[in-house]
Amino acid sequence: MASTTNLDQTAPHIALFPTAGMGHLMPFLRLASMLATRNCTITLITAQPTVSAAESNQLSRFFASHENIRGLQFQLLPYKPSTDIDPFFAQFISISNSVHLLHPLLSDISPPLSAIITDFTIASSVCKIATDLSVPTYILITTSARFFSLMACHSQLVENNPKNGGDEGIDSIELPAGLAPMPLSSIPPPFFNPNHYFSTIISSNSTSFSKVSGILVNTFDWFESKTIEVLNSGTVVQDLAPILPVGPLESFKAEQAIDLPWLDNQPAKSVLFISFGSRTALSKDQLRELGTGLEISGCRFLWILKGSEVDTQDKEAIEDILGESFLERTKNKGLVIKGWVNQDQILAHPAIGGFLSHCGWNSVMEAARLGVPILAWPQHGDQRVNAQVVENAGLGLWARDCFWEKMLVNGEEIAEKIREIMRGENLFKASEVGEKARQAHGIGGSSDQVIQGIIETLKKKK
Ligand code: UDP
Ligand code: UDP
Ligand code: UDP
Repeated sequence: MASTTNLDQTAPHIALFPTAGMGHLMPFLRLASMLATRNCTITLITAQPTVSAAESNQLSRFFASHENIRGLQFQLLPYKPSTDIDPFFAQFISISNSVHLLHPLLSDISPPLSAIITDFTIASSVCKIATDLSVPTYILITTSARFFSLMACHSQLVENNPKNGGDEGIDSIELPAGLAPMPLSSIPPPFFNPNHYFSTIISSNSTSFSKVSGILVNTFDWFESKTIEVLNSGTVVQDLAPILPVGPLESFKAEQAIDLPWLDNQPAKSVLFISFGSRTALSKDQLRELGTGLEISGCRFLWILKGSEVDTQDKEAIEDILGESFLERTKNKGLVIKGWVNQDQILAHPAIGGFLSHCGWNSVMEAARLGVPILAWPQHGDQRVNAQVVENAGLGLWARDCFWEKMLVNGEEIAEKIREIMRGENLFKASEVGEKARQAHGIGGSSDQVIQGIIETLKKKK
């Protein structure tokens, strides 16, 4: 097992450098733990202060249970965004602006670094200091290979934006050779706006895709084989670094244990788990319609309710959002929780039979690893593209005509889709996906081999 007691002199020393938001932090922690288990020396760089309480709590728990992993904290320079900007995106920019402060800390580090693995959202600035330090850089992509392919082609797509030509009738766009066309409705509108921070973060960092030593993606060969194959064929972007599928990333032991006696008492595969990730909040009206939908469906449910984007501002009580009477009427059928739960462990619970998800990519990979069918209700950013990948792979269904984030979906419609996913028709396919996922990350599987290959490459460089 992992350890610092192993005195393998050739073991690489890898620094992992995540950015902001649980969706970016969790995959880095999981990769750090996996690399430490494979005898690498690991330094985890964390920018302070974090945006959410969930991030700082998770980091404390992680370090407490991984004594062999060193933390390197660095304080961000003050940053005041000029416009009203998503706090997590503001943090990406703030970290980029402060990265040069790391140079002296990393140049003195012992043993010397073999590589830095960083997040896409700060890749260009990290590449700059890593080049000065002569340390190879890798990127860990926390979205699907499919959405990554869009980011990789960002500059071409913005230049040829069909909407610029006033062609409103078009419903999908062509991507470079071999990649399937992308429905226009799946691409977040800010992607095409060169002045929007969503777009500037992509354009300023995608130039690093041809400079780094490799691009690790939390996906697996079987799940997105076509996309991975095309990306690695050299036809999409000139000099694109190799795409290295390393997923689904494994959870680590110390992830907070769940204590939900209610769930333990439910029949196998009877409960729908509902979560829109760490930062996506539905409108109040939509939350109430979802409540109505659950009630009409008659299904058992475990609902993690989020009322705001950043947890420290999420102050409203459950009964104020959903109403006392809803909670009373559904008390034998369901449980609503506000706050952080260990989603990965809930998905692994035998009582869970389906997952109503926003399709944040970590959630998708967790469901894939555990073979839980997804009912996709994507909201922002990469989530619609991810939902398509889920459906193509047979992991679940996306009622794209019904679950559309720009309109209020009514309870009746929601109930119908919930019944559909809980009838279990998708269970067989989802468990097959789970089997493929287990093969990929098991010993000798496609993702395990990729990780071993990276470690061997770094050992040879020492
Ligand atoms: N998560 C969790 N408990 C929660 C909410 C989220 O453990 O109450 C985890 C979830 O399992 C996933 C990550 O936080 O690993 C969220 O990432 P994802 O990409 O699914 O969505 P995002 O939060 O980035 O929208
Ligand atoms: N596809 C699509 N839209 C998407 C992603 C994929 O229409 O957003 C289609 C496309 O035809 C592609 C196929 O789904 O060839 C499968 O692609 P993917 O890489 O997801 O899976 P694989 O080919 O490995 O099964
Ligand atoms: N965003 C988000 N959660 C994510 C990814 C993106 O809230 O996991 C937000 C982000 O603030 C960005 C916007 O989504 O501004 C980009 O896409 P969106 O599909 O929301 O476009 P919009 O609906 O705002 O036109």
